[in-house]
Amino acid sequence: MDIPFNNKNYVVEPEKYTQLCTCGNRHPPISIKMYTGTDAYTHLAKDCRQAVGSGSVLLVDDENTHRAAGGRVATCLQENSVQHQVITLPGDTSVTDSLAERITFESSRHGLIVAVGAGTINDLGKYAAGKRNVPYWTVPTAPSMNGYTSSIAAVKIKGVKRTLPAPPPQFIYVHPEVIRQAPMKLRQAGLCDALAKSVSDIDWQIESLLFSGNYCALPSAIVAESESSYMGNPEGIVQGSEKTIMGLFKGLLVSGVAMSLAGSSAPASGGEHLISHFLDMRASLTKRTPELHGLQVGAGVILSASCYRQLALINEKDLKSTAANAFSIDADNIPSVWGNMAAEVEKQFFKKREHLLAFDSLLPENWQTLKMLFGKVKKPQFFIDLIRRAGFEMTLEALNLLKDEFRLAALASRTIRERITVLDLAAHTGVLEDATAATLELLT
Ligand SMILES: [Zn+2]
Ligand SMILES: [Zn+2]
Repeated sequence: MDIPFNNKNYVVEPEKYTQLCTCGNRHPPISIKMYTGTDAYTHLAKDCRQAVGSGSVLLVDDENTHRAAGGRVATCLQENSVQHQVITLPGDTSVTDSLAERITFESSRHGLIVAVGAGTINDLGKYAAGKRNVPYWTVPTAPSMNGYTSSIAAVKIKGVKRTLPAPPPQFIYVHPEVIRQAPMKLRQAGLCDALAKSVSDIDWQIESLLFSGNYCALPSAIVAESESSYMGNPEGIVQGSEKTIMGLFKGLLVSGVAMSLAGSSAPASGGEHLISHFLDMRASLTKRTPELHGLQVGAGVILSASCYRQLALINEKDLKSTAANAFSIDADNIPSVWGNMAAEVEKQFFKKREHLLAFDSLLPENWQTLKMLFGKVKKPQFFIDLIRRAGFEMTLEALNLLKDEFRLAALASRTIRERITVLDLAAHTGVLEDATAATLELLT
């Protein structure tokens, strides 16, 4: 859109790409712009008028985010004579294929989609905008996850959660007070999702060293710029410190951009995210209501950090050629863990079979470099202390999670995705069980 929308900043300034890139490849320019201020919603309404003229805007929110911001946004649209339709979904909405299609259908009469909310609402807006190829803007209501700026939308298709490509928003309108006053648990979940980078970035470096060679330090470097604001003062999450919470929020927005710059979610999603995906996928079998994405990821961060600790203790001479055996043990267990979803999981796990079998030679060849990388990860206790200082207890009970289900997630979640993570290294070297036991001790 070539309308001169003023007073906005790039989430990440494009000149940083060349300053901080270490891979030498060209990173696709991500042109998401953001307006921050207490007049953000008026600003949005004026931009809407400019963008759609006499056309109309579809505003999507839910009962909670309508109260937090959507109602005010609608008033601003009204005051600025912008034609609009508001769809307010129930507070406990999850993104199913039928709902996503409904929003897509509703959007067909509008020239712009504005999502007011966090994960669910943004996934819906993005999905519909991508399907209909209409512009998509967002009004975040919580620093709860890094999906606002990502190029994917999570949708449950026939009950199975999938991540589909979807265009990120062009513009983001941020009212700092709305973000600061977001419900406590959402802020804590956002902190945990941001902490994932401390382990996933190392997962990615390992994968790159062993296989793809595509690691770049740019994604990590741009996120690191806001890290000190929340890692240095996690108490600020509980206390409602604007500096901490807006620092966390900025870190999450940048993290979404970092994934687009990398061309994959690898900078922000490794083994720790598999734990959360595993629990979500198994929810239909266990009847457990999944906890917030970020909080489940937090438990995964503790597990990944425990795996790194255990791996760092292994000497090169003790590495054994157990790849074929380790693979078949986990492959054989898939049917009993997954029931009617087993075929889909098997497909994912078998995609990385060749890479896993190559561990027998690649791990000993690279062990010294790998050990250096393992040593970069902070202790599991560091992460659990940080999360607790932010006011979240981080126990199995707080996560509404049974011990056996967590153990299963820890031991078997490496099978659900093709990506190589620390969980594969831990399983191959035989330390995954010990790391799981150590994590369970910390979480009880
Ligand atoms: Zn690069
Ligand atoms: Zn995440």
